[in-house]
Amino acid sequence: MRAKLRCVRCGAEYDVQPKMFSCPKCGGLLEVVIEPEELPPFSEFTKRSRMKGIWRFAELLPVKSGSPVTMGEGNTPLIRLEKLEKVIGVRRLYAKFEGANPTGSFKDRGMSLAVTVAKEVKARAVVAASTGNTAASAAAYSARAGLKTFLILPSGKVALGKLAQSLLHGAVVVELEGNFDAALEAVKELAKMPEFYPLNSFNPWRLEGQKTLAFELFEEIGVPDVVVVPVGNAGNISAIWKGFKELKEFGYSEALPKMVGVQAEGASPIASAFKAGLNAPLFTDSPETVATAIRIGKPVNWMKAWKAVTESGGTFEVVSDSEIIRAQRLLAREEGVAAEPAGAASLAGVVRLASEGYFNGDEVVTVVVTGHGLKDPDSVKFHPANKLTALNVEDAVEKVVSALKVVA
Ligand SMILES: *Cc1c(COP(=O)(O)O)cnc(C)c1O
Ligand SMILES: [Zn+2]
Repeated sequence: MRAKLRCVRCGAEYDVQPKMFSCPKCGGLLEVVIEPEELPPFSEFTKRSRMKGIWRFAELLPVKSGSPVTMGEGNTPLIRLEKLEKVIGVRRLYAKFEGANPTGSFKDRGMSLAVTVAKEVKARAVVAASTGNTAASAAAYSARAGLKTFLILPSGKVALGKLAQSLLHGAVVVELEGNFDAALEAVKELAKMPEFYPLNSFNPWRLEGQKTLAFELFEEIGVPDVVVVPVGNAGNISAIWKGFKELKEFGYSEALPKMVGVQAEGASPIASAFKAGLNAPLFTDSPETVATAIRIGKPVNWMKAWKAVTESGGTFEVVSDSEIIRAQRLLAREEGVAAEPAGAASLAGVVRLASEGYFNGDEVVTVVVTGHGLKDPDSVKFHPANKLTALNVEDAVEKVVSALKVVA
């Protein structure tokens, strides 16, 4: 591997050891420092766009693999939200629609890389705690790699689509009476055993796959002024920031975006502390939000995310569940984009920031829509539905004709 590991807390550097996830000196989390052998012009990556997936950015990834575990993840649509940008008052507003990944969330970018590593270190089995999307993605990519998959999920708190995916791909699912943070504790225990390779985002290799979102944005629109990301365990915002920093470090770009992290009111250990002017999060034991993908009380990557936001000059924002549901409706009904609730939290954050006067009106803003609406069919119940029934053909025609009068 063309990389070393560095502690985000004390800065100590280490040679790569595949199963080292925290600093032996201080216990801090590690990040991967890539050491590219060659740097092609950026246009070279774009020329490879027929080669789908994160691996077209090979020179900027830490793993050189002849046989990556891939399904063409990444290359997700960047969708201009013209109606919403007018209402919100920014120059241009885009959604990077991560719901279009193979399993319906951004987790696939990281899973492609981490499962490739798991295969290369000859792990027998992989294990992950999950609010749902990590589970679905791990189950799919590990099935493809021929690895046994074990998932620990908070019982009753995983959206239906995600649980169905995990079961469909044949993973062993353990429903734990407890929340995500407890499930993650179990994974940390299992990861100490030689048989198990962990696929949660304390595993820095996963973030190396997720940073490719920054490369794609740069390719599509250059560096946006503001990138807004829903924050749960806080890995994704850290990964995207790392991607932008590397583009600058390696001479591809000159600018950096402001990073904005959005958390849900009932699960906002980082954002609430940041807004209160503290310098560390306030962990909570009982996180609660309708956006189950970000229902996390003790975000393991908080320090990386905190650095991303402060270094970039961005901010954290807190939104209520009703603001999240409203943003989900706006995306779906004004722009045609189906987001699960957590995926709409980024837009909810932008709406909230706009109301607080955060934007000057000239910014190019990208919201990361992290997961697909299909993931969480139950969330439809929060929206007014136009659902009628008909007894026969004539009745159906009649119902439609009279409904037109109402909506027209
Ligand atoms: C995992 C996930 C998040 C949170 O990402 P973190 O890296 O844990 O901060 C947000 N939205 C969706 C849909 C997710 O699946
Ligand atoms: Zn350290």
